This record gives sequence, C-alpha cells and structure tokens, in this order.
Amino acid sequence: MTNLIAKTSTEIEDLLQPLVDHGYRGRQVANWVHQRGAQEFDEMDNLPKSLRAALEREFSLREPEILEICESGDGSAKFLLRFEDGVTVESVSMPEGAKATFCLSSQAGCAVGCTFCVTGAMGSGRNLSACEIVGQYRRLRRALGEETERVNIVFMGMGEPLLNTIHLEQALSVLYERVSPKRITVSTVGIIPGIEWLAALARRPKLAVSLNAPDQERREAIMPITRKYPLEELIRTIRNFPLERGRRITFEYVLIKDFNDAVSDASAVAKLIHGVPSKVNVIPLNEDADHFPELHQPSAETVDAFARTLRDLGHVVTVRWSKGADVAAACGQLKGRQPAR
Ligand code: SAH
Ligand code: SF4
Repeated sequence: MTNLIAKTSTEIEDLLQPLVDHGYRGRQVANWVHQRGAQEFDEMDNLPKSLRAALEREFSLREPEILEICESGDGSAKFLLRFEDGVTVESVSMPEGAKATFCLSSQAGCAVGCTFCVTGAMGSGRNLSACEIVGQYRRLRRALGEETERVNIVFMGMGEPLLNTIHLEQALSVLYERVSPKRITVSTVGIIPGIEWLAALARRPKLAVSLNAPDQERREAIMPITRKYPLEELIRTIRNFPLERGRRITFEYVLIKDFNDAVSDASAVAKLIHGVPSKVNVIPLNEDADHFPELHQPSAETVDAFARTLRDLGHVVTVRWSKGADVAAACGQLKGRQPAR
C-alpha cells in the first residue's frame, strides 16, 4: 500500500487523480498530510466520507512506532523508533526556544566502521526508506508542539546518508514541503561520488564533512574509508562544491586525546581547508568504554587551545560539547536497540 507521507504534494495530487471528482481534492489531501501532519484519513473532515474510505483502502499514513523517549537534562530528547520489519533507529530532538534541531538517521547501522563511532561498531544496517526518514521528522515534529516555529534538520544520526542517496533524495523533496533546503544539513564521512551527486541537485541541502584528522595517514587509521576516498581528492571535491550565497561548508572534527588534538594539528587543518568558505565544528570525543575504551576526550584546555589556534588563523569555529550525553543521545552514540542474542 502506498504510504503518502513520503510523497510530495504534487505526487499526492497525481496519485489521487483517478479517485477524485474535483482537482482541489488532491491539494486538500496533500495539505492534511504535510501541513497539518494528519495521522489518519478520518481526520480529513473537509473531504467526503466516501473519499476518506477510498483513501483508507488504497493508501496509508503509517509512521514508525515510538518505543521509547529518553529526555536529557539539557532539554534534548532521544527517540527510539521501530519500523515495520522490527528494525530500530534513534533520532534526537534538540529544542531551543522557538527553534529546534532534529538529528535524523539515514541507515540502521553503518558499514563505514569509523573506529570512534558506536553506530560504526554495530556494523552495517539496512538503508532507511524515504518513509522511514520522513517518519522520523513527523514523530519528532509532533512531539514539539506548535510553539516551535522553526526546525533545522541535520543528517548526523545513524548511518552514512550519502550511501543511501536514492531514498535520501525522495526524503529531501518531501521534507522541503516543511523545511527549507538551507535548514537541512547532510553530514558525510567523505563519500566523493555522493558529494558530486549532491552538488548536481537542483535544490541542495547544506554539506557537512567529517574531517576528523589533518592528514591521510591519521584519517585512514580512524576512518578506513579514506583508503577508498583519499583526503586530497576529498578536499578537491569540496573546493568544487557549488555554494549558494551566504552558505559555507561545515567541517566536523572529532577531537581525540593525544591523537589529533595538538595545536600543530589545528594549524594543519587550517592549511588544508584554506580558502574554502567554511566553519569548523569541533566535537570533543564522546567516550564509550565498551566499544573503544582506548579513545578519550581531551581536556577542556586542550579543546580550547585547538579551537583558539583555528580562530587565530581566521576560521569560524564552534565547539560542540554534545547534547544529550546523559542519555547516550550525543554524536556517535546512537545505536537503536540491538536484538537479543
Ligand atoms: N556518517 C555521517 C553522519 C553521521 S555521524 C558522518 O560520519 O559524517 C555524525 C557526526 O558524529 C560525525 O561528524 C562523526 O564524526 C561524529 N561522531 C561519531 N562518533 C563520535 C563520537 N564518539 N564522539 C563525537 N562525535 C562522533
Ligand atoms: Fe558511519 Fe559516520 Fe559513524 Fe563513520 S562516523 S561509522 S560514517 S555513522
């Protein structure tokens, strides 16, 4: 049964054509689905009963089931969501005044296997469908209430979005009904063909690239995919990425104690990305004693010195002490619920 939550308004109008007597009915349904976030066809009280019954027979509005919501002391909330086949993912909502940021997942696991990431340690999981991606947005949006005026979306949850471009593309088209492309960021480990795909889209979200090390050798050590997509080629691809006016590339840099946190590393990063309109998000590592006990978070002084060096060299830097760490909702900590073994 076709699920309308992952269809754009135009697609909904086309799909409904054979069922309706008036052209405006399709628009009414699309408005219910996307603007009003309807969960049931029965809610659509400006439609004839017969049409609601026909919709019910042919289409669904199914969303992932909420298994659990963990609220963090800092206001963020981690949602554990289950899809039809039992697969689970996590998504994080971070409200801040009239705004909120949603951190969504693109895959249930990740085959890329970065050594500092809990999702990577789970191993590969399947791609999420457009319904499953949009479903996360809908669940989180409804939980917020109407007072939140603006939502930003970052694909920084579980998985590598640029290894799931087919479903990501459809999900983006649908998300654009509610959220402007300039408020959506796709974060990648550095999949070069994926970045080129993104560059060719007519309506592009923002690009974030997880840099995490200043040279090929160290990047390979923590991000094995660097062997396939070398750092130099990655930087060249980023330099060619088309940027709308006012936009910048975000570089994420996970700071790992005594590995990539020296002041000289900050200078090397500055040199590497010199001239790219960008900002750097420095993320002190979120530790995980089970999956990578040997990796540690640097001290606040080391983090400050790293950020200061980059700033002194002319870069825009924000330090992201992760939100939701107390409920394991922070960067690199998402894992869904593992099936019992
Ligand atoms: N696969 C994509 C998006 C998901 S990971 C990517 O790698 O970019 C989102 C961000 O979390 C990445 O910048 C990643 O480097 C960071 N991250 C992963 N594990 C982390 C950890 N243990 N502590 C802090 N950040 C982490
Ligand atoms: Fe996958 Fe990103 Fe984690 Fe690497 S950091 S394992 S690419 S989710």
